[in-house]
Amino acid sequence: MPATPLAAANPAAAAAVALLALEQELVPPDVAYQAISEHPDDPVGALTTANTGQSAATSRARLYAAIADSLGLPYVDLSAGNVAPDIDLVQRVGADTLTEYVAVPARVDGTVQLAAGTPSAPAIGELAEQADHATVALADPAAILAALRRIERTAVVDATVDSTDEEQQASARRRRAAAPTIALDEASNLGWVRDVLNRAIDQRASDVHLSLTSDNHLRVAYRVDGELRPQIVTDVDPVRAINTMVTAAGMDIGAQGVPQSTSFRHTTVDGRRYNVRAELLPTVNEAEVTLRLLASGGLMTLDQMGLLPAYVKRLRRATERSDGLILVTGPTGHGKTTTLYGALMEVRDGRRKIVAIEDPVEYRIDGITQVEVAPNREGGLGWLQVISSALRSDPDIMLIGEIRDAATAHAAVQASQTGHLVLATLHANNAVAAYARLAALGVDPADVAAQTVLVTGQRLLPKLHSCATHRPVSDRDRLRLVASGIEPPDLVHYPAGCDACDGQGTRGRVPLVEMLSPDQTLRDAVAAGADEGALTRLLSDRNFLSFADEARRLLDQGLAAPPDIAARLREDVVNLAAETAEGER
Ligand SMILES: [Zn+2]
Repeated sequence: MPATPLAAANPAAAAAVALLALEQELVPPDVAYQAISEHPDDPVGALTTANTGQSAATSRARLYAAIADSLGLPYVDLSAGNVAPDIDLVQRVGADTLTEYVAVPARVDGTVQLAAGTPSAPAIGELAEQADHATVALADPAAILAALRRIERTAVVDATVDSTDEEQQASARRRRAAAPTIALDEASNLGWVRDVLNRAIDQRASDVHLSLTSDNHLRVAYRVDGELRPQIVTDVDPVRAINTMVTAAGMDIGAQGVPQSTSFRHTTVDGRRYNVRAELLPTVNEAEVTLRLLASGGLMTLDQMGLLPAYVKRLRRATERSDGLILVTGPTGHGKTTTLYGALMEVRDGRRKIVAIEDPVEYRIDGITQVEVAPNREGGLGWLQVISSALRSDPDIMLIGEIRDAATAHAAVQASQTGHLVLATLHANNAVAAYARLAALGVDPADVAAQTVLVTGQRLLPKLHSCATHRPVSDRDRLRLVASGIEPPDLVHYPAGCDACDGQGTRGRVPLVEMLSPDQTLRDAVAAGADEGALTRLLSDRNFLSFADEARRLLDQGLAAPPDIAARLREDVVNLAAETAEGER
């Protein structure tokens, strides 16, 4: 095997790398010379951080691809969509060993490759054998280490293998082979549950799903920034694991054939407190457990939500009113309730009584009377029942978790007509569509026109991390954007991935919001029964910033990537149609 060009302080190797960088036109000759003479130990780093006018992530990838080519090795881009580190193989070989030799087994279009930072190191061949006789390939060492850290953080059960002791490692492998499932130790049951929760919190996950795969392994999926990150855990008895979670959550282990829900508290080692809401769902394939993690005091204020300052101001002004209807539309899981609570937190000064009705109550907040609706639970209260008893308790402000049918729609509008400020969420594709939705639910358009003071449409998109690359929009994305009604810019940002964002390229979420403050002309049109198309045309003459306008701003500011914007705007239309049909049944 040829000598690695990455060997430390090897001037010849550094020069080879510099030549490749020149061939790839990544750097001008003077920069290449300076980089390798000053940093012979890290030529790639020096060359790609040199000011080249290109993003470092792109040039790193190109340089490594060129190095791989010159070595006659395949190159693996660990951030590519068709590449995924193989968690089972990482656990089998040992994360510590792999970290030491900077290598990670990955599936590339289904075949296993051992992505290595120094493919010529003697141990790499042996590791490749252990990893299902993988082909050795070159990858960016920084990306390999980031992938391993990510796996280590997410794996529920660590491979407890001493990385330096080959013999011990082999015997650990034999033990695991002899006993493919390790039963959870009685004494450590609760520890296992705590471990699952702590890992979820470390990853900033909002939910954890535990289920069985068809070949009887435990599937643990963490929802981070709205996306599920599933993994298969082979080292625990899956049924035992789910039973343990059921027991720990205080649910009835003998009644796994019926849906159950409970909540319990969890405190992390460093003292952060969480409410955990557990749901058990009987499925054809054993029970499934979902955990939702709610940080105590974890609600965002309006200022922390990433809304335009002008929108924050309009929300604040709307909540100062003594009556009227404030609506937030959007699909499930897009932060509608969070926005309304953000607004409520600012008005809970004790001078006005606030009642919030939800199914279920997601955050517990001092200063707000919270009532839980549970229409499907035995002895649970229905929406109308709760709304009317809440109205008798003399509230000034009422939050109705969701206007889901004709009865709740009427109740919400009526409450807003009788001296209450009502905040509610509604399934509708955008702000304007809220009017059509309420009309479809049988509410008199004149009442809606008179009562509505603010309508917000809201989506959440994966937020690009600062490592994003700025480059020409692809032809495909150009089409996607046009199809979503967005005029595509020439240059856009695409996710890259770095250590700080766990190689994901995105971190957190960014709201895509349109906010409609109806004026008299719009009210008149709504009262006269104008349809969505007519209202949209009316708004286009005004200073209304639609989803498309806002999406363009997010693109221009590098906050979201074109595929995410286009996909969310389209997918949601489909999901929404399904959810709406569900609600009306
Ligand atoms: Zn990043």
